[in-house]
This record gives sequence, structure tokens and C-alpha cells, in this order.
Amino acid sequence: HAALTETEAEILLAQPRGFCAGVDRAIEIVERALARFGAPVYVRHEIVHNAYVVRDLRQKGAVFIESLEQVPAGSTVIFSAHGVAKEVHQQAQQLGLHIFDATCPLVTKVHVEVAKMWANGYEIVMIGHIGHPEVEGTMGQVPDRMHLVEKVSDVEQLQVADPQKLAYVTQTTLSVDDAAQVIGALKKRFPTILGPKKQDICYATQNRQDAVKLMAPQCDLVIVVGSPNSSNSNRLREVAQKLGISAYMVDEPAQIDPAWLVGKRRIGVTAGASAPEALAQSVIERLRELGVAKVRTLEGVDENVSFPLPRELSALVGKPK
Ligand code: SF4
Repeated sequence: HAALTETEAEILLAQPRGFCAGVDRAIEIVERALARFGAPVYVRHEIVHNAYVVRDLRQKGAVFIESLEQVPAGSTVIFSAHGVAKEVHQQAQQLGLHIFDATCPLVTKVHVEVAKMWANGYEIVMIGHIGHPEVEGTMGQVPDRMHLVEKVSDVEQLQVADPQKLAYVTQTTLSVDDAAQVIGALKKRFPTILGPKKQDICYATQNRQDAVKLMAPQCDLVIVVGSPNSSNSNRLREVAQKLGISAYMVDEPAQIDPAWLVGKRRIGVTAGASAPEALAQSVIERLRELGVAKVRTLEGVDENVSFPLPRELSALVGKPK
């Protein structure tokens, strides 16, 4: 039992937290493909960046691969929620694979934007994190090399062919505040730069960051449930830290160090868009074991977004187990 303060500690639960509509749909596509075609079903890249989800689907017969060359001819392959470059689609067709595309429709929206900008003769800047699969997928929508910028200082280094014919898009899971700064720097240097009609940062990213901004100032500590490679989960931790609150990311309850809780009265809990609610609940359970008695869910935006499944999989009745 950890040495908590004598005063009653409580958990504040952020709202909304956890699964977004794109993650829900992507996992459902894998489960339904398994139910329909049987194991193995191949998944290119982690379907969503969560270790628990990946482990669970692997046990059900999903085989996670990074390159389509690892997939036997004629197999079923699912593209992850992060999206893929055009050439990956082409390669899958050449290999005769049966494809289900679990790319989040909000990522596809950015892909369509990029294709239009390119068709209209724009040179494109992407604001995103180097090495993230969503960035690779989005930048792989057009044959020309796009420019990638991560931070304000990258904007100064940019070399463009025609500053009058420049456009930008962003990764969907960026820090809303950091992205605004980079966009500001781009607009300052290239006043006519064309942006997306509506911001590319998705509703789920925006809402989860807003919820942490509301929650963190009321807390002594924030715990974010999420995997280390989850972009949006990392941003949630940073949002709390930027407000001066200690924040940690955990993949599972065992990673909670009881020492974090010493002297803390209010512990904020949230979960990234790829982290299942079951994990958030097990983190709450662990905090209870460590002596935190009360749980209070904060007010927040109600999300009622859902995306349709691919037609070939939507006909299945009921959620396969
Ligand atoms: Fe789609 Fe946003 Fe969820 Fe990513 S975080 S899967 S873009 S809804």
C-alpha cells in the first residue's frame, strides 16, 4: 500500500477520452475480417498504436507485418488506420492481395486534399512527425516530394520553388497549439500559402486535448493511458506538462509507480484515441488499490461520430467475438 496523504485523494476522469471513431472502425474491420475469412488475416503495420489492442488481435489470428512482401499471394490484408502511400495500394494490387483499407476517413480526407493541391500545381508542406506512418502515407499520395516540417525552426529552413504556389496540410494527431505556431510561422514567411478548408487535426485529437486543458489545472498529477508510439497520447501528456502538471503515460496499470502518488490529492486520468476503455478502467482499479477512494468524471463534449465499414464487411450481423 502506497503512502498517500491522509487527506482523501480522488481521480478526475477526462471526458472525452479513449477510442475515437477511426480506431473503433479499424479494429472492427480486423475482427470482422477474421470472422469472415478466418485466420490468418494480415495487417500492415499496427492497426492502431496500442500494444493491448495489437496483442488481442494477434491472439485472434491477425498477423502484423510491415512489408507486403511478407504476405502470401491471395491473402487478405488490412491497411492500418494511419493510411498508406499510393504505391502500397499499387503493390497490393500487383500481388493480388484482397485488401481492406482501415485508413481513418479523416486521414483519407487529408489524402484527397493533398491530391487536389498537387493537381492544381501547388507545392505542398506537411506539418507532422518524421517517421510516423500517417506522415509516410500522406506524403506518399503524390509523386513529388513534399516538404515535411515538424517545428517552427524547420519553417526557416524551407526551400521552395515558388512561394506563390504553396499549400500545407497537417497530421491529424498534432498538438493543436504547436500546430498553430508552425502554421503561423508558415503564413508569416509565405503570406499566400493555401491551407486546408477545415483544420486537418481531427475532432478526437481536438476534444481530448481540450479535455486535458480543463482537467489538468485541477490536478496534482495526470496519467495518460496510451502506448509509447501513439502520437495523440504523447500529445495529451505534453498538454498537461505544458500546464505545469506532472504527467506520465502508461500502457498498463503495472507501470504506475506508487511513488508518483505520494502527496497527491487529485489524479487526472485520460486515455489516447487508441487506448481501450478497459485499460483506463484497470488503471482506475489500480489507483483504487493504491488508496484513491473517489472517482469523478468531468463534464465534456459528447462525441457521436461513427464511420461506415467497408461494404463487404458491413453485412455481417452482430459484432463477432
Ligand atoms: Fe481518425 Fe482522429 Fe481517430 Fe486518427 S485520431 S483514427 S484521425 S478520428
